[in-house]
Amino acid sequence: MNIAIIGAGLAGLTAANLLQAKGAKVRVFEKSRGVGGRLANKRLPWASLDLGAQYFTARDPRFRTKVAEWLRAGVVEPWSFSPYELCETGLRAREDGQTRYVGVPAMNSAAHELAENLDVRLNSRVERLLVANGQWHVVTGNDSTGDEARFDRVIVCLPANQSKALLHEYEIASRIPTEVHQACWALALATRGHVESDIKGFFGDDFVSWVSRLSSRPMRDSSAHWDDLWMLHFAGNWSEIQGKNTALDLVESGSQWLNRALSGYRSRPLTVVEHYSHFWRFARVIGQPLAQACIVDSDIGLAVAGDWVAGGRVEGAYLSGLAAAEQILTGL
Ligand SMILES: Cc1cc2nc3c(=O)[nH]c(=O)nc-3n(C[C@H](O)[C@H](O)[C@H](O)COP(=O)(O)OP(=O)(O)OC[C@H]3O[C@@H](n4cnc5c(N)ncnc54)[C@H](O)[C@@H]3O)c2cc1C
Repeated sequence: MNIAIIGAGLAGLTAANLLQAKGAKVRVFEKSRGVGGRLANKRLPWASLDLGAQYFTARDPRFRTKVAEWLRAGVVEPWSFSPYELCETGLRAREDGQTRYVGVPAMNSAAHELAENLDVRLNSRVERLLVANGQWHVVTGNDSTGDEARFDRVIVCLPANQSKALLHEYEIASRIPTEVHQACWALALATRGHVESDIKGFFGDDFVSWVSRLSSRPMRDSSAHWDDLWMLHFAGNWSEIQGKNTALDLVESGSQWLNRALSGYRSRPLTVVEHYSHFWRFARVIGQPLAQACIVDSDIGLAVAGDWVAGGRVEGAYLSGLAAAEQILTGL
C-alpha cells in the first residue's frame, strides 16, 4: 500500500514510522527545510535555540514506552528541576511532581530519529490533494510528480486550521474545528550576569507565560559571549491580540520583564547581548481532545491527525499519529 503523509511533525513521523514498519510504502511531504514541526530548533552563530515546545511530559503508557526507547537511544533526557511560578511577591517554587523530558542535543532530536529511514520530501508544501478512482494525487508547490505520486491512502498531520484549509473540498473539513490553537511569540535572550542556579524554568503571568533557562538543560550550549540563554514564551491571549506585526519592542519589554521576575535571584540586572524572536501562528492547543484520537473518512481513504485531535502537546501529537496509522492498518 502507498501512503502519503502530509507534515513531518511528531504526529506525521509517528504515523509514517509505524506504517513503514508494517510494510507500507510511505512518503512524507514537509513544507519546511527540516523535520520536527513545532519541536523546532534554530541554529544561529551565537547559539542553538529550541523555539517551540520546551519540554514534554508522558502520561499515556504507549507514549511512556516510546519515551523509554528514546531515552535508550540517547535522543531525549529528563530535564530535572523544580519549576517556579511568578506571584506578586516574586518567584516561588511550584513543585508539581512532573518528569519533564527534552530532546538532546535539541528538541527536534526525537523527530530526527523517527525520520531516519523514511522517505521525507522536504521543501514540499502540499497545495492540493486530489482523489479519483480510489487513488490520491498529492500536488506540491514545487513539482507535479505525475504517476509516481499516486497514493492509496493519505494522512494529513498539520495544525487544525491548515488541515481544514487543505481539505476544504472534502466533507472531513467540516469535522475539523477552528480556534483550537493559540498564537505564541517566542523570544530568546542571551544575557550577561549571574542568576541562581535553582532557576531553570518558571511559569509567568498573562504577559509572558513560560520561561526556560535554555542553558540549564542537558547537553545545551555554553559560550564565553553570554552567561545564560533564556526562552520567553509570551502568553497565548496576549500573542493573539498582538499578532505577527506587534508594535511592541519585544526585546526591551521582554528583558525588563525578565529582570523584574528574577529580581530576588540575581545580583545585578542582566544585560542582553543577543536576541532572536519568532511568531508562532498556531502554537499550543486550547480546545478539548476530540472523541477519537484521529478523524477518518473511510470512503476516500483519508485520515487527519495532529496534537489538536488528542488534547495538544507532544504526547497528543504522538498518540494521534499512532491512532491514524492504526486506522489505516485496520482498513480505516
Ligand atoms: C511555542 C510553543 C510551545 C509549546 N510548548 C509545549 C510544551 O511545553 N509541552 C508540550 O508537550 N508541547 C508544547 N508545544 C506543542 C507541541 O510542540 C506540539 O503539540 C507538537 O509538536 C505538534 O506536533 P504535530 O505533528 O501535531 O504538528 P506540527 O509539529 O505543527 O507539525 C506539522 C508539520 O506540517 C508542516 N506543514 C504545514 N503545512 C504544510 C503543507 N501544506 N504541506 C506540507 N507540510 C506542511 C509543518 O511545517 C510542520 O512541520 C508547544 C508548541 C509551541 C509552538
